[in-house]
Amino acid sequence: MSLNSQQLTQIQTKGIRWIEPAAIGLARTGGAGPTDHKAFSFESQTSMIPVFNEQIQRSPFSAKFSDDSTQVLIFEDDKLIDKASIPGRPKFYDLESADGIPYWKVATLHSKDVLATTVLQECVRYRNRDTSCQFCAIEESLKAGKTIARKTPELLAEVARAAVELDGVTQMIMTTGTPKTLDRGAAVLVESAAAVRRVVDIPIQAQCEPPDDDIWFQRLKDAGVDALGMHLEAVSDRVRKAIMPGKATVPIGRYMSAFKAAVEVFGKGNVSTYILAGLGDTEDEIVAMSLQLIELGVYPFVVPFVPVAGTPLANHPMPDATMLDRIFSQLGPALYHKGITSESLKAGCAKCGACSSLKSYEKQTVEQQFTEKELAHG
Ligand code: SF4
Repeated sequence: MSLNSQQLTQIQTKGIRWIEPAAIGLARTGGAGPTDHKAFSFESQTSMIPVFNEQIQRSPFSAKFSDDSTQVLIFEDDKLIDKASIPGRPKFYDLESADGIPYWKVATLHSKDVLATTVLQECVRYRNRDTSCQFCAIEESLKAGKTIARKTPELLAEVARAAVELDGVTQMIMTTGTPKTLDRGAAVLVESAAAVRRVVDIPIQAQCEPPDDDIWFQRLKDAGVDALGMHLEAVSDRVRKAIMPGKATVPIGRYMSAFKAAVEVFGKGNVSTYILAGLGDTEDEIVAMSLQLIELGVYPFVVPFVPVAGTPLANHPMPDATMLDRIFSQLGPALYHKGITSESLKAGCAKCGACSSLKSYEKQTVEQQFTEKELAHG
């Protein structure tokens, strides 16, 4: 019993109803980027599955603990379709800094072995609805006291070391709200990465908007950053202007020139971008942009949009699973043929692969090719 790629896509776009809400355990709500998820570890991979928003009440998928509580049973309607486990609470969450800041407010566990932090929890675009990204909840977790506004390099290094030593995390992701400065956060990522790499040897992905000067890519690399994410989120000017009017003032042309310059520094595949399917871009627009990016050596991490409570898009419909299946069926082979599969990347969301089933479509391509070769050899 194991989920195939199409089933995983369905689950990620429809969510899972948790039959025993009191026992939901470790989950991620609020914060920057995709959230309101819960990690489920299936046989082949760990996936973040929407569990919180109201639309999930209509999902055919549900979950509950097995009678001995060792596993989570996943049902489609009434039929048992898979079993999963849920990553436990990491040990580093129980520690705090010398001045009393709990480590879980500095960085959190994503998926099962990724340490993620938002270095600056405030964003120059957030407080004004004329400029904010409508899907983002970056300052909500700050208001709720679940994090701190600025994680210093020293604090990040301390927490990263504990997470590696106590919980075996295998990579670190540093994102940031966009500050007023023209480097758009690259400078704080440089000092943060350098501090972490001084105390622990862990691959790091940094994420920011394209900075004013491409020189920042080399500075990030020199500081110990292995991979860079610059997130388009939406690919058409129409949707960018409607959903993320502030970020849309940075033209797609600037993203493309930044991608090109960053690939020269980090290497093909180690530059990536999030694309949120379901915000209004058409299937053709997403595929066309993604193929263009793959050609440049950029990994288009296409993710189903998950509405987040407390944002203007809280009631926006979740995307259609069949559309995502068609998109992924084209991108999986294209990534495979370009040699930038998730496994080959050094760090980042595309390597983690928990927020999208795209990774499993790359695998499908590999398996299909293997079978074809076997058949050809009789
Ligand atoms: S894909 Fe990125 S955002 Fe999603 S769980 Fe992994 S590290 Fe976190």
